[in-house]
Amino acid sequence: MTDLLITDAALPDGRTGIDVLVAGGRIVNVSPRIDAQAAQVIDAQGMLLTPPFVDPHFHMDATLSYGLPRVNRSGTLLEGIALWGELKPLLTQEAIIERALAYCDWAVGKGLLAIRSHVDVCDPRLLAVEALLHVKEKVAPYLDLQLVAFPQDGLLRSKDALAHLTRALAMGVDVIGGIPHFERTMHDGTESVRILCELAAETGRLVDLHCDETDDPHSRHIETLAMQSLRLGLGGRVNGSHLTSMHSMDNYYVSKLIPLMCEAGVSAVANPLINITIQGRHDTYPKRRGMTRVPELMAAGVTVAFGHDCVMDPWYSLGSGDMLEVASMGLHVAQMTSQAAMRACFDAVTVNAARILHLDGYGIAPGNRADFVLLQARDPVEAIRLRATRLLVVRGGKIVARTPAATAALSLAGRPALVDYLSTSAKGVRGGGG
Ligand SMILES: [Zn+2]
Repeated sequence: MTDLLITDAALPDGRTGIDVLVAGGRIVNVSPRIDAQAAQVIDAQGMLLTPPFVDPHFHMDATLSYGLPRVNRSGTLLEGIALWGELKPLLTQEAIIERALAYCDWAVGKGLLAIRSHVDVCDPRLLAVEALLHVKEKVAPYLDLQLVAFPQDGLLRSKDALAHLTRALAMGVDVIGGIPHFERTMHDGTESVRILCELAAETGRLVDLHCDETDDPHSRHIETLAMQSLRLGLGGRVNGSHLTSMHSMDNYYVSKLIPLMCEAGVSAVANPLINITIQGRHDTYPKRRGMTRVPELMAAGVTVAFGHDCVMDPWYSLGSGDMLEVASMGLHVAQMTSQAAMRACFDAVTVNAARILHLDGYGIAPGNRADFVLLQARDPVEAIRLRATRLLVVRGGKIVARTPAATAALSLAGRPALVDYLSTSAKGVRGGGG
């Protein structure tokens, strides 16, 4: 007997009436009407079964610290950076671990089962690195946490940052980070990209830089990042996060830049909630949106994903670990409203993000680990529209979270009950808990 059989599911690629069979923590069959005995059978009733959400850009060392030591009154990036500076000396390992574990619980409840988190290495104690390595081990049974050694105060600008970064990698941090636009000069930024990419070539690591997170169209470190990736043969291992300066760049320049990114195999992560909040702050009106050129990058074949970046920290007081909220904001900011573009926004928080993290065995296909989420929606667009309830979250064939279906029972005199309008959505719900 097998462990779990999900029947009558819709998949993100548009297939419907699909059964998924799980044995030994792995998916063993995905096809219409599987005839098999299983210890547990769940009728999905036509609802969407998706591979888990993946957040390709997060800061877990700062999350849930909102209000410590005080709130960000102006809500600006600059006050946020100042606040983080005030908070850093007060951090303890225990507090970082406690907050990170709490966030991972939220994440799992939202079907978010893989997170790439940057961790600040500009602290000789490497307190946050130790704390998050502990968290990574602790959550491994239910969440993939990938860590990036991130010199928040600049690789060259902050004393001994390269030594701390190298030590963090030796301790077990996975990915090489950086922040070229925050170095003292454009030249230092260029130099930091060279150093970090050479380190990646020597050590076989992935690279993910906070890159050009500014409205300055002359911030062109993404060009250097692509060129170094090409020179050192790092194709497929390098990601540029934010890339907000591309929003403001000259169109002719971008017409050369995007093909270079393609040629170099560099991927891109936009952080819609944060980009729309933080960019354009020096503008009066019209105000720029600041998010990078998502549809143009996607059309050219660049892998583009959306990250959450912040949840209740010195920079951003909102957020809940809901990658459908992230997808929705990305869709709106980039005006990606065609059917295909809306579906692409769903891919940006699932399959594209998984590719950037180099996740093994991701996706609903035989042989892969049985990780998936049953949503109270029939397709990816409806999932984004409703921020659909995560009816079931499954990791390695085991149910790790479930949420009761959202229902409405309002009835006004002389009108049909609201619940009647929702009956199609609600249909999948009643037995959905399995
Ligand atoms: Zn970030």
